[in-house]
Amino acid sequence: MILVTGGAGYIGSHCVLALLDKGLEVVIFDNLSTGHIETVEKLKQYGNVHFQQGDLQNLSDIQSVFKAYSIDAVIHFAAFSQVGESVINPQKYYLNNVGGTMNLLSAMLLYNVNKIVFSSTAATYGEPEYIPIDETHPQNPINPYGQSKLMIEKIMDDYDKAYGLRSVRLRYFNVAGADSQNRVGEWHEPETHLIPNILKSTFSGGKTFKMFGTDYNTKDGTCVRDYINIEDLAQAHLLALEYLNNGGETNYFNLGTNDGNTVKEVFAACEKITGKNIPVDICPRRAGDPASLVADNNKAKSTLNWTPKNSLEYSIEKAYEWENKLQGALINA
Ligand code: UDP
Repeated sequence: MILVTGGAGYIGSHCVLALLDKGLEVVIFDNLSTGHIETVEKLKQYGNVHFQQGDLQNLSDIQSVFKAYSIDAVIHFAAFSQVGESVINPQKYYLNNVGGTMNLLSAMLLYNVNKIVFSSTAATYGEPEYIPIDETHPQNPINPYGQSKLMIEKIMDDYDKAYGLRSVRLRYFNVAGADSQNRVGEWHEPETHLIPNILKSTFSGGKTFKMFGTDYNTKDGTCVRDYINIEDLAQAHLLALEYLNNGGETNYFNLGTNDGNTVKEVFAACEKITGKNIPVDICPRRAGDPASLVADNNKAKSTLNWTPKNSLEYSIEKAYEWENKLQGALINA
C-alpha cells in the first residue's frame, strides 16, 4: 500500500491515477484545505483507493493511517504552495510544510517505513546563477515557500544518516496540463498559475488575463519558464518509487524539459489551441518572479530512466479540455 499525502490536490491526484493505472493500492491522506473531495470520489472509480481525511499537523491523525494500513512507501505532496502567501504568512508555511512533514516522518519511523518520495521545487534554488539549472546549482530560496521545502530536504538527509530513512526529492519546474482521459485536472481556488488563468479568461464571467511584466531581459520581455506535463511528472514519481524499492540511495532530481517558453509564447499557444482572441491586460512585474527558470533534467534521465514525452501544446490542449469540464461542473453545481 502506498500512502499519498495531498492526493486530493492537482499533482497528487495525477500521481494517484498513475499508481492505480499500474494496479497499485493507495491510501490518500488529505485535509481537503486546498484539495477536493470530488477529486477523491473520482479517483475511487479507477482502482483500489482508500481515503482518510486528516491534518499532518495533528500527529495522531497521521499515526492512525499507519496503524490502519500496512504502508510500504510514502509519496508526500501535502503542502501549501503559494509563494506570495508564504511571504505574507510564513508561519502558515513553516507550521504546515515543515511541522507537518516532521509528524509524517516521525510516524514513518514509528512504523518502520523507510522510503519517501517528496514533492520539492525549483523554488529551492532561488534566483538562478546560471541556466539551465542542474542539481548542483546552489540552493538559496528567496521566499518562505522555497525555504520550507529546502528545510525538509535537509531534514530528510539527516534522517537518512541517523535512521536509514531514504528519500527521493523531486524538484518540479512549472507543472502543466491534465490527465489525458480528462479524469482529473488543475483546480485551485484562487488560481494563480499562468496556463489555467489564461484559459479561464476565455469563459464567460472569467477575469481578463493579466500578463505580469513585459520588460524582463528575455527574448520578448516576458518571463521564461520550463513547463513540464503533469503525466510526465507523475511517471517520474513511479520511477522514483521503483528506484527506492531497488535499494537506491537518497537522491534528488530536477523535473523539467531542458527547454523554456516565454509567457507571450504560452499565451499565443493558448490562443491557437482555443481558437479565441484572448484579451490581455499588461501589468507590472509580479514580486519575486525571476526572469528565467529552465531545468537541466539529465540526472533524472540517466538515473531514473525518465523521459518527458508531452509537449507544451499537448499540456495546453488537455488543460483546456479539463477547464471546459470544470466550468461546466461549476455552472451546474
Ligand atoms: N503569470 C502571468 N499571469 C498570471 C499568472 C502568471 O503573467 O495570471 C506569469 C508569472 O508572472 C510568471 C509565469 O507566468 O512569469 C509563470 O507563473 P506561474 O504562477 O504559473 O508559475 P511560477 O513560475 O510562479 O511557479
